[in-house]
Amino acid sequence: MTGSSDKVNLLGLPKAALEQFIVGLDEKPFRARQILKWIYQRGMLDFSAMTDLSKSLREKLQASACVDLPVEEARQDSADGTIKWLFSSGSGQAVETVFIPETARGTLCISSQVGCALDCAFCATGAQGFNRNLTAAEIIGQVWHANQQLPRRSNGAAAVTNVVFMGMGEPLANYRNLVPVLKLLLSDWTYGLSRRRVTVSTSGIVPHIDKLADDCNVALAVSLHAPNDRLRNRLVPINKLHPIETLLDACWRYAKKHSNRFITFEYVMLRDVNDSLQQADELAALLRGKPAKVNLIPFNKFAGNEFSCSSKDTIRRFQDRLREQDLVTTTRKARGDDIDAACGQLAGKVRDRVRVKMSEKKMRMATA
Ligand code: SAH
Ligand code: SF4
Repeated sequence: MTGSSDKVNLLGLPKAALEQFIVGLDEKPFRARQILKWIYQRGMLDFSAMTDLSKSLREKLQASACVDLPVEEARQDSADGTIKWLFSSGSGQAVETVFIPETARGTLCISSQVGCALDCAFCATGAQGFNRNLTAAEIIGQVWHANQQLPRRSNGAAAVTNVVFMGMGEPLANYRNLVPVLKLLLSDWTYGLSRRRVTVSTSGIVPHIDKLADDCNVALAVSLHAPNDRLRNRLVPINKLHPIETLLDACWRYAKKHSNRFITFEYVMLRDVNDSLQQADELAALLRGKPAKVNLIPFNKFAGNEFSCSSKDTIRRFQDRLREQDLVTTTRKARGDDIDAACGQLAGKVRDRVRVKMSEKKMRMATA
C-alpha cells in the first residue's frame, strides 16, 4: 500500500517509537508530539512546512524520514452516502475501506490484512484466502486518507468519529501491528478517539483477547454466528481451536477489565442454518445475565457462495425472541450494498494467497 523508500516511514509509529527516533536525531523527545499533530490533525506531510520545528530538525527529517501513505486505486460512492475505497497493497493486490455516514457519527470500517486465513464459510474475504498482514502505516493510513478526503463535521471535528475493524482480515491475527494503531487512534496528539468509539471485531482468537484487555482495551465485538460448537465449527472454523465456552470466558474476563462494558456479539442471519427460534433460545442461554448485546447481521450474498439470508420476518422473530429474554438486540442496517460495501462483501484483490484448510496446526500458525 505504501511506496518504497529507504527513509523511515513515520506513519504508524506510536508516540514512544517516534520519540525514540527523534532522540536518535539528537533532538528533544517532545518534538514527537508536534510532529504527530502535524501529520494526523493537520494532514501535513511536508516536513519543511512544519513551522514550529527548528530548521535543523526539519532538515534532518527531510533527509531521514518520510510519511508514506496508502495509494488510492479507486473510490466508489453509494446512493446512501456510503463510500468505499480500494487501496493498493502492492503486487496487484488491494484492500478495501468503507465510510458509513450517520447523523451522529461517521464510522470508518478498516481492513487489517490482505485477505484472511480463517476461512469462515459465509465471508467473501475468507473465500479469497490470505496474502499478508497490513503494516501499521497501511492500517492507520486508511483513517488518514478518509479524514483528508472527507469534509469536516459541522462542529469542526474530523469526519471519522468511530473506527471499526470490520473490513478485510482478522485484526487479532495481526496483533503486532494492531496495537500501535489502536494507541495512535486514542492518542490526544493524533485523533483522540475514546475507547468506546474504536471497535475491534474478532472471530475469537482467545489468547489475543486476553492480551488486548491489558494492552489497549477498546470496545470488543465477537463474531459468534452460532449457539453451539457443532454449528460454529462449520461456520467459523477457528472455533475448533477456541470453542465457545473458552471464547465466552475470555469475553467475560475482557468485560470485567473494561468496567463491565458490554461486548457485542455479531450473528449473521443464514436461512435455515442458524436462524430458528430454538437456536435463538440456545443463544440467549449463553449470553443471558452477562455484559452482552447482540447485533444481528443480515447475510450479504456474494458470488460463488451457497448461503441465503434469512427472511425479514425470521430476523424480526429471532430478534424478538432474544429481547423477550432480556438481551439487548439490534439488527444491522445494510449500507452501501449497491457498491458491494456491505459486511462480508469486501473482497479487495488478493493474489498469491495461501489457502488454509483448517487443521489445528495451521490455525495456530495463522493466528500466532
Ligand atoms: N475478522 C473479523 C472482522 C472482519 S469481518 C471478524 O470476523 O469479526 C466483520 C464482520 O462481518 C464479522 O462479524 C463477520 O462475521 C461479518 N461477515 C462476514 N461475511 C459476511 C457476510 N457475507 N454477510 C454479513 N456479514 C458478514
Ligand atoms: Fe476472516 Fe472475519 Fe471473514 Fe472470518 S469473517 S474469514 S475471520 S474476515
